[in-house]
Amino acid sequence: MMKDRIQKIEQQIREAAEKAGRNPEEIRLVAVSKIKPAEMVKEAMDAGQRIFGENYIQEAVAKIEEVGSEGIEWHFIGHLQSKKSKYAAGVFDLIHSVDSLKLAKEINKQAAKKGVVQKILIQVNTSGEDSKSGTTEEAVIELIREAATLENVAIKGLMTMPAFFDDPEGARPYFRQLRLIKERIESLAIPGVEMKELSMGMSGDFEVAIEEGATLVRVGTAIFGARSYHS
Ligand SMILES: *Cc1c(COP(=O)(O)O)cnc(C)c1O
Repeated sequence: MMKDRIQKIEQQIREAAEKAGRNPEEIRLVAVSKIKPAEMVKEAMDAGQRIFGENYIQEAVAKIEEVGSEGIEWHFIGHLQSKKSKYAAGVFDLIHSVDSLKLAKEINKQAAKKGVVQKILIQVNTSGEDSKSGTTEEAVIELIREAATLENVAIKGLMTMPAFFDDPEGARPYFRQLRLIKERIESLAIPGVEMKELSMGMSGDFEVAIEEGATLVRVGTAIFGARSYHS
């Protein structure tokens, strides 16, 4: 049952937080519903889930239309092309995956047109692989300084998605790295920049991410089951 799976994850979140001496209330579960039908989102809503994460803009927009956003939050966590920003700005409560000034500027422009301030996270490629999205550790501060001057985006924190490891401990150094980057940015006290959120951890490693400071964990498979991209 979906409800049992969600409750089990919420329990694991609490235990990981307590183990790390953290307040479990600081951590929110983002249910990643990509590729999964609207019915499953509704089932999760009935089980009390309140935040949903989507990766593909067309799919997400269709699902949001079907499910609505009454009482829930939609987050965009996938790679976003600048030219698709108009579909995302003002539609999602939080965009986790901003990794270039070009994209931040485009979101800013589209948010301004709609008269909203779009909350964003800056995605950092902590594991340094070419294939992963995210700005580099070297470039992140400059990107944040520049994006902070845009009036219709609000920076709320950082996101990372390390390479896959069979052993969740493999991801720990990258989660820790993101927290250290967050602390460094906080110490710069850049006007308009909040470093409240650390979006990190997925089905296989969210507990480790919580021990390293995650405030948003993005869990798909453990809630909705394995994804099949071809049917
Ligand atoms: C798919 C996805 C997730 C969820 O992954 P699971 O292993 O299914 O929990 C989390 N974050 C991002 C960015 C994703 O694309």
